[in-house]
Amino acid sequence: MTVERVLLAEPRGFCAGVEMAIKALTWMTRIFEPPVYCYHEIVHNEWVVRAFERVGVVFVNDVSEVPVGAPVMLSAHGSAPQVIDQASERAAVVIDAVCPLVTKVHHEVKQLSSKGYDIIYVGHEGHDEAVGTVAEAPHAITLVEPETGIDGFAPRDPSKVALVAQTTLGMHEWQHVFDTAQERFPELKTARKSDLCYATTNRQGAVAELASECDLVLVVGSDNSSNTQALVRVARERGARAERIDSADDIDPAWLEGTRVVGLTAGASAPDHLVQSVIDRLAPTMGFELRSTTEEAEYFPLPRQLRAFVTTLQGLVEAGVTARVVGESPLLDRDREWTATEALRLISA
Ligand code: SF4
Repeated sequence: MTVERVLLAEPRGFCAGVEMAIKALTWMTRIFEPPVYCYHEIVHNEWVVRAFERVGVVFVNDVSEVPVGAPVMLSAHGSAPQVIDQASERAAVVIDAVCPLVTKVHHEVKQLSSKGYDIIYVGHEGHDEAVGTVAEAPHAITLVEPETGIDGFAPRDPSKVALVAQTTLGMHEWQHVFDTAQERFPELKTARKSDLCYATTNRQGAVAELASECDLVLVVGSDNSSNTQALVRVARERGARAERIDSADDIDPAWLEGTRVVGLTAGASAPDHLVQSVIDRLAPTMGFELRSTTEEAEYFPLPRQLRAFVTTLQGLVEAGVTARVVGESPLLDRDREWTATEALRLISA
């Protein structure tokens, strides 16, 4: 039961959208007295959600659960237009922490439907991102699971069909649906690249590179994290045994029987300290080796409404007006250097 080596995939873990969303919700907890409300889990990670709950964030699945006049944040996965309207009617302050790459897909859907296209949306039924995107044009959009494909899709006009996708699908799953759709609808309209985001693509590329060398691949991330599940499937497609774990506590000792080399990665919403604790638990006799496939430099600024709100508040504090202490919170002008890991450390202190 001795693991010799761990091959650590890079990039792994937090993407720019998750970084932004975690920092944005941290700001909310510094500005407002608890409870602060958040529509849907801010990101799909159990550890992160519990950390925010401990400092008074209440996660709701229906905006009607937010008391009138309370502050509310909308999650990184993007919300339906009706949810945004409803939140604006009820809440004192609404900050939308949607990832800009999800917003891009919402725009595509709105544009395509206004031009009369029937849209195939490749995604997972019930996933927060899929629910929000489909709601942009429910009359024009058909959700297709990647495993099921487009057999049941019947457009009004086969020359006006578009293909759009959830940002966190498996690359091969997406490619398969794309190929089938293009064959059936030669005039298929789709984004120049796929809608799969850079973080999804890079993390899958990194795990694909090392999977064939591993006896077992462990993917740190939560069950409801679509990109985490995609990493597991990519590793399996490459012939590796692969398991998803929330933390080191989920490692089944039976998985390690006869296992010498373990590949390790993490979904885009999984904090890196959970990855480090997996390495500690495995205690590889020959240590770990970083396997880097690409460098990422993406940065998404905090939501505009939040920046405006904090700037106003800081001005008031500087002018001597009593406001909730922003205290040790980082200043907005060094947001680029401030990480979500530091933000989580701040709220967990
Ligand atoms: S996984 Fe991609 S789409 Fe989702 S939050 Fe991260 S960068 Fe944005």
